[in-house]
Amino acid sequence: MATHKIIYGDQVIPYTIKPDPKRHVRIAIHVEPDGSVVVDAPPDFDLSAIHTAVQKRARWVAGHVGEALTRFAHVRPREYVSGEQIMYLGRRYVLKVVRTDQKPQGVRLRGNRLEVETRSDEADDLKGRVRAWYRVKARDYFAKKVAEASERLPWVEDIPAFRLMDMVKQWGSCSPEGQLILNPHLIKAPRDCIEYVILHELAHLKHHDHSAEFWKLIETHQPLWKKAKTELDELVELLTVE
Ligand SMILES: [Zn+2]
Repeated sequence: MATHKIIYGDQVIPYTIKPDPKRHVRIAIHVEPDGSVVVDAPPDFDLSAIHTAVQKRARWVAGHVGEALTRFAHVRPREYVSGEQIMYLGRRYVLKVVRTDQKPQGVRLRGNRLEVETRSDEADDLKGRVRAWYRVKARDYFAKKVAEASERLPWVEDIPAFRLMDMVKQWGSCSPEGQLILNPHLIKAPRDCIEYVILHELAHLKHHDHSAEFWKLIETHQPLWKKAKTELDELVELLTVE
């Protein structure tokens, strides 16, 4: 994708154009959580017309890019030291690094703390342990929730197997063959957000697109899905930073 740019005041804002065969007339401008700007446009759209349309909305774009970058800047990589915040099922816990030579060295939730026993104080080692703990929790919790949702949703015949996969901008995916993939970082999100992602992916077993019928299905089975989706969008940086 080639990069184009608009000017707003003294800011130069790059954007990329994504041809969308489903679009015929209008373009749609999105500002991603990391501040990048993507313009969905009909495939045969005239480049200068796109540029004019985006430039016309420069003020809106600049505002949203500014907000995204400010939010992003607050989310610094973890250092894996005691006192740091750890998210789990939408709750904030405090990391406590416990130095010990005893084995086995555990990772456990205790009150509002996540205690990690370790012999080394290498951040990389701690990061690996916390990451492994999240994955175990994710596998167990998602398995339970996928099973529960499959029982509840009339079009799901068998409980689908799923894989965990780190993804940058996606919480989950579902192939037409029913291959379900879930992002392990999702275990940090509130329960209704996890429910939404699982419902969304399972709904793709019935509708392989984001058609009106698809969203109607979501609405029927989780009336408050929009709240969950908005919350996830807002938390994305906080939940995926490591
Ligand atoms: Zn989808």
